[in-house]
Amino acid sequence: MTKPPLTLYLAAPRGFCAGVDRAIKIVEMAIEKWGAPVYVRHEIVHNKFVVDGLRAKGAVFVEELDECPGDRPVIFSAHGVPKAIPAEAERRQMVYVDATCPLVSKVHIEAERHAERGLQIIMIGHRGHPETIGTMGQLPEGEVLLVETVADVARIAVRNPKRLAFVTQTTLSVDDTRDIVAALQARFPQIVGPHKEDICYATTNRQEAVKAVAPKSDALLVVGAPNSSNSRRLVEVAAKAGCSYAQLVQRAEDIDWRALDGIATVAVSAGASAPELLVNEVIDAFRARFEVTLEVVETAVEHVEFKVPRVLRQPA
Ligand code: SF4
Repeated sequence: MTKPPLTLYLAAPRGFCAGVDRAIKIVEMAIEKWGAPVYVRHEIVHNKFVVDGLRAKGAVFVEELDECPGDRPVIFSAHGVPKAIPAEAERRQMVYVDATCPLVSKVHIEAERHAERGLQIIMIGHRGHPETIGTMGQLPEGEVLLVETVADVARIAVRNPKRLAFVTQTTLSVDDTRDIVAALQARFPQIVGPHKEDICYATTNRQEAVKAVAPKSDALLVVGAPNSSNSRRLVEVAAKAGCSYAQLVQRAEDIDWRALDGIATVAVSAGASAPELLVNEVIDAFRARFEVTLEVVETAVEHVEFKVPRVLRQPA
């Protein structure tokens, strides 16, 4: 039977960012240096495939520090941790490596600097996301106010409307965040913040690439995990950019082929914590059903690389 033709637009950049790449390397190098098991507090990055792969090499994933024995190394995830966590590891004299992405650490430092100048911080982010918990946890509890939407801006009660600063989660929707920042600036004209927002290069670039392919695609699939903030934002961005069917899939087996019946174009992207291997798996699944013409749509070229912490570069 002849296969129907399909143009597959592969969005670029997609997939692993420098922060995720570094976090995975940190776990692998820690296992090499100290042997298994190495404990990891929280999923190192939000991807089951990656987590399972590291587990097979000797990583043990836990939610809280008190689940780690004091005599094994522990790694903190790329999303960042509240200050109390490394403080507790130090109190217990544990060996720990912080895999917080340097771009998240930058936001932590920003928040601290604003607080030192006596400004109250407003964080734009998603309640309960580990990065938001980590950034808010750089300052004493109750010091940082969280806003998730434009409507929240009208509701927050601040100490002094003239002494405010804002920071943001790094993986938000660029467009939605712009609206929230505008609402903050309208209500609190003296609020200070970063030049634009704290959304990282990887989030911005992946959203731009999705915006380029979404309008010309009958369907768009984002390879990523349901708990990955930046992956979920890519699905929303695709829908807003005019793609009538935008879905998150963890692997090829999640593709709903019935929903794709009769399509002539499809776009594929991947969140910052999704390995390219899973993207290839999705492309192969399309090739099995369609006569695929693959077109890479590249909107930016990335050269960002982060070094692993010095302790892992030194011999054991
Ligand atoms: Fe760092 Fe951005 Fe990747 Fe998060 S998405 S790990 S902030 S580069």
